[in-house]
Amino acid sequence: MLRTLIVGGGIGGLSLARELGRRGLSATVLERAPKLAAVGAGIIMNPNAMAVLEANGLAACVREAGVPYLGRDTHDQRGRRLATRDYRPLYAAGRLAQGALVHRAHLHECLADGVSPGTVYLDVRLRSLQADPEGVRLETETGEAFTGDVLIGADGIASTVRARFFGAVEPVYLGYRSHRFVVENRNGLQHFTELLGRGQSVGLVPIGAAQLYVWTTFDSPRESRAWALEDVRTFRACFAQFTDSRVRGAFAQLTSTDGVICTDLEEVHQVPWVRGRVALLGDAAHAISPGLGQGAGMAMEDAVVLADELRAASEGRTPLAEALGSYERRRRARVEQIGRLSRTIIQRGQLTGRVACWLRNREIAREGRAPERMQKALAELLHWPRS
Ligand SMILES: Cc1cc2nc3c(=O)[nH]c(=O)nc-3n(C[C@H](O)[C@H](O)[C@H](O)COP(=O)(O)OP(=O)(O)OC[C@H]3O[C@@H](n4cnc5c(N)ncnc54)[C@H](O)[C@@H]3O)c2cc1C
Repeated sequence: MLRTLIVGGGIGGLSLARELGRRGLSATVLERAPKLAAVGAGIIMNPNAMAVLEANGLAACVREAGVPYLGRDTHDQRGRRLATRDYRPLYAAGRLAQGALVHRAHLHECLADGVSPGTVYLDVRLRSLQADPEGVRLETETGEAFTGDVLIGADGIASTVRARFFGAVEPVYLGYRSHRFVVENRNGLQHFTELLGRGQSVGLVPIGAAQLYVWTTFDSPRESRAWALEDVRTFRACFAQFTDSRVRGAFAQLTSTDGVICTDLEEVHQVPWVRGRVALLGDAAHAISPGLGQGAGMAMEDAVVLADELRAASEGRTPLAEALGSYERRRRARVEQIGRLSRTIIQRGQLTGRVACWLRNREIAREGRAPERMQKALAELLHWPRS
């Protein structure tokens, strides 16, 4: 039986271990962190991600502590509604799996519980990584050795596996950063609600347990350390253009900026994803901007396709090299399409000129007046499995 070593126990690595386990294949996950934990923020599980979780049996766990993703409301910075993307007709017609809005910690718990005991090794510091025609071998700083037939780099945007086997590919900084934090959902918000300003946007996402996940994006030169996190007053002042009472109310709940995460928004453009017995998955292969909330969804889809290919290799139906090549061929166009679209959406939110923002808002409002066209596009984009 094919033995797979996975570096990285994030969303992608755990998803792959789950998919392999369900196909009767062995997987070992090596994770650097001392415990499996996620940053203190929410996450949007789009319908395609939920379809993966429905098929692998983890959707019920995720939904248990989440909120159904019913619609995405887009507003201007004053809170005037521009458009609603209503997912409900698509769910009712059985065209999409119902999306979910959850806390990242809960998603991680579900994914971690979804793999067999003994699969994940924590607090692992890799000292050497080797792959040759006979197999793969990893050694840790404490002298432990792991051997397998195939090595998967699911170790995120700054992937060690990518650097070791594919050379230095620097992530591309997009020119903006994002804050994330979680407060109480005091207004009982039910929809994913985004507000677009000039050079900034704010998202309010109900995530269950009466909590609200708040994210921002803001223009910020790479070298800048002006993240507005000195104190809450500075943080609120930074987003003063958002006069909507729900945004003001969410920011007002913060008594300190200690729990606010600030992340560079970056993309990874890696070619190829496969070399010999080594393949990349998730952000390590193709980190995308969060405009569509699809990075984790893409990692989960990768996991399904890669697990199918590895099963074919394990059963001797396909040589391993062909199976890995087929994984990349089946995934690349999909991921690139989602990545491009995501970038377009996030760039649209970062426009700064008064006229450009006015035109953008008009365009979004026009799109909102054609719900059938919008729903058709959503159904095509978010359907899983892909035919
Ligand atoms: C602001 C923001 C908002 C987002 N919102 C969404 C959203 O709403 N919906 C969505 O689908 N996606 C979203 N994403 C994207 C999503 O978070 C990522 O695409 C997803 O986490 C990728 O999973 P991964 O497993 O590939 O990488 P990661 O989640 O980064 O996991 C990599 C793992 O590898 C481990 N690791 C790293 N190096 C090593 C090493 N050398 N040895 C061992 N272990 C190692 C890390 O500790 C980590 O656990 C967002 C991203 C950002 C930045």
